[in-house]
Amino acid sequence: MKKNLKVAYFSMEIGIRSEMPTYAGGLGMLAGDIMRSCADMGLNAACITMCWQHGYMKQKIYPDGSQSYADRQWNPADFMKRVDETITVTVEGRDVKVGAWMYELEGMEKTVPVFFLDTNIEGNQPGDREITKYLYGGDGAMRLKQEVVLGIGGVRMLRALGYEHVGTYHMNEGHAALLTLELLRERGYEDSAVRPNCAFTTHTPVKAGHDVFDYGLAHYVVGDMLPWHIQKLAGQDSLSMTLLAIHLSRYTHGVSKIHGEVSQAMFPGETIDHITNGVHHLTWSSPEIKELLDKHAPGWRGDPSVLSDLKCDDIPDKEVWDAHQAAKKRLMEEVNKHTAFDFDMDMLTIASARRVVPYKRPELIYNNLERLKEVAHGQVQIIHAGNAHPSDVFSQGVIQRMVQRSSSLKDHVKIVYLENYNPDIARLLISGADVWLNTPTRLHEASGTSGMKACLNGVLNLSTLDGWWIEGYSMDPESGWRIGSMASAADVETHRAVDAEDLYTQLQYEVVPEYYYKDRTRWIRRMKRAIRLVGFFNTHRCVKEYMEKAWVE
Ligand SMILES: *Cc1c(COP(=O)(O)O)cnc(C)c1O
Repeated sequence: MKKNLKVAYFSMEIGIRSEMPTYAGGLGMLAGDIMRSCADMGLNAACITMCWQHGYMKQKIYPDGSQSYADRQWNPADFMKRVDETITVTVEGRDVKVGAWMYELEGMEKTVPVFFLDTNIEGNQPGDREITKYLYGGDGAMRLKQEVVLGIGGVRMLRALGYEHVGTYHMNEGHAALLTLELLRERGYEDSAVRPNCAFTTHTPVKAGHDVFDYGLAHYVVGDMLPWHIQKLAGQDSLSMTLLAIHLSRYTHGVSKIHGEVSQAMFPGETIDHITNGVHHLTWSSPEIKELLDKHAPGWRGDPSVLSDLKCDDIPDKEVWDAHQAAKKRLMEEVNKHTAFDFDMDMLTIASARRVVPYKRPELIYNNLERLKEVAHGQVQIIHAGNAHPSDVFSQGVIQRMVQRSSSLKDHVKIVYLENYNPDIARLLISGADVWLNTPTRLHEASGTSGMKACLNGVLNLSTLDGWWIEGYSMDPESGWRIGSMASAADVETHRAVDAEDLYTQLQYEVVPEYYYKDRTRWIRRMKRAIRLVGFFNTHRCVKEYMEKAWVE
């Protein structure tokens, strides 16, 4: 049976549910939210991704702060149907069979299929069965094999499933760029026959984050699928997945305004636009916030842009506060299962949770412990969460220090580090904290989406001006607080101290007093305005922009 698609969205990872470890972080969460919006909006879309046996790992934190990261066991058959079709790709000159699982993502209007490619099947050599074992694990050769399966295998799987006409092949990050090679082969190696059907999202504001492969390795792994003019498409000296994707896409964009500009500067001569990320409003709002919005923003479920017209003055403060406190209660109950300190419903609670990598600077708030004690003593409690990559010893050390501080600072400020950050823990934190703290090195956060999830629940952002928050804060400075200036970091270390001091100042003179001041009117007004921002920062709006700019046929 012949079938059509408006868009086939290729992504190395996707976050669908906590029990399926098929993602590592923000990139996968965005893919999930975009697909959920497509399903709600009735779009004829499908997603192609990989059936990782082990995506993110199970983090265990010991009392001394050291960690272990263990493989997670899960069975795809518990969640998905196996499709009958298998296809073949060639890696290192060998045939590798690729099967697929189908997850049905149900939305308000439609069910969108997500196809998880799987090489762990009968007939493949043991080494090839492991191509879909570890997300972002292994060496360059392994990564290339994975990208062959995702890109080339993905297009072949679509054909095997009967999808003949696809309006746009969307590459979510350069990992999927090899899909262009299969399209080139199908279309007589005419670039101009491929380009009109492809679009590309770049996510990485630093050069080192872009996939680049040695041509010797590429020829060895990918073989004949590399066209004769690959150097023209992907770079003279080495194979850049980003250049390949840009050169064979009709439209390329970054994921926030500032990230679009940074990417444009990184690839002079190319044209890079931006579509700022969003979050799926129904996935990330607490039940109490849903109830509040059903009452005060009718229609927001089908069309979250109505949140932009939220009549803040008409919503009773008490209703907003009660909705928030209900979520906070759930968070406190969970936290108190994991710590001997008694986390307090009525104390200002700061949460800071994310994948632990150096540029996110999770330790900024501990830059000057005397200042922290001065501003936080007896008034602030802090919750952290976040996994490090199992091979990133540096970031594991960061987590260890943070855990140790929770005891060394215990007479001044309660600190807890929750283990095993995942979407369920994220949901508790982004709805139950009072303040969402984010302190990336400027120009290093492409967008960030957890702060948008916080806004949606009336949790206030306290963040460096980077990624999406530059836009959010500019739209409405009353919706949260900024840390530091807009200037980019000339000297990273000096800026660290300046940012840290500004963070303490904001806490001392703005955040803490406002939280404890009498009836909290000002605070609650900020909460409503934070919710209002999500009228823009939602994935329905992203999908509309994709349709106007990236998915036009
Ligand atoms: C939203 C989310 C992310 C992405 O958040 P950032 O803002 O990029 O840090 C990562 N992990 C989980 C579990 C999430 O829910």
